[in-house]
Amino acid sequence: MKIGDKIPLHCERCKKSTEHAVLYIDQRDETQSDESGQWLLEHTLTRGFTECVVCSWPKVRIHVFTLPTEQESYRSIPREPERPVPAWAKRLPTDVQQLLLEVYGAFTDKRYWLVVMGCRTLVDMFALERIGDVGGFAQKLEKLQNEGYLSSHDKLLIKQAVEVGHGATHRREAPSERECLAVLEITEHLIHKLALASHAETLNLAAATKAKTASRKPPR
Ligand SMILES: [Zn+2]
Repeated sequence: MKIGDKIPLHCERCKKSTEHAVLYIDQRDETQSDESGQWLLEHTLTRGFTECVVCSWPKVRIHVFTLPTEQESYRSIPREPERPVPAWAKRLPTDVQQLLLEVYGAFTDKRYWLVVMGCRTLVDMFALERIGDVGGFAQKLEKLQNEGYLSSHDKLLIKQAVEVGHGATHRREAPSERECLAVLEITEHLIHKLALASHAETLNLAAATKAKTASRKPPR
């Protein structure tokens, strides 16, 4: 990493990966040892102060080189997202998109309570968008299945995902990273359908136009 380099990093303001220009660099050494002093590691930290080339939002990129293990690692402040935001998120209704971004942010920050609570709210928002306000969570799932938005398998998965949250509340322990990832993937799978709905509308329109044009063709 040197001044003038352009590095692809996640921009907190653009909410996506963008080029970041390295404006300034400094270097510092740190040593790390165990209490008995039996092992000693020397870390050289190169800190690059960068900004997004699109919106100038700042970010610090840190390269760590460790001796004698000769290991290298990188980290960023703020952290790089653990799970990149999918491109289809742009086609979601604004409030759903905003909450999804917050859930991804919470996942990166390892705030697993917030992730499962956020996912539950995303499922609620999906239900409200598709079938309106029809009562409790169980009724919503029932109606979503009856109206064809959820297969029985999807419904089972969502129930299990919500139970992870309930289970965590009862045992008063945050859900594990693995549980959290499962809940997040199941929720993504469901709300992806909201994003796909806009494609379906486009395709229906295209098919209708095609059929209209075909019906005008003279018979051979
Ligand atoms: Zn930016």
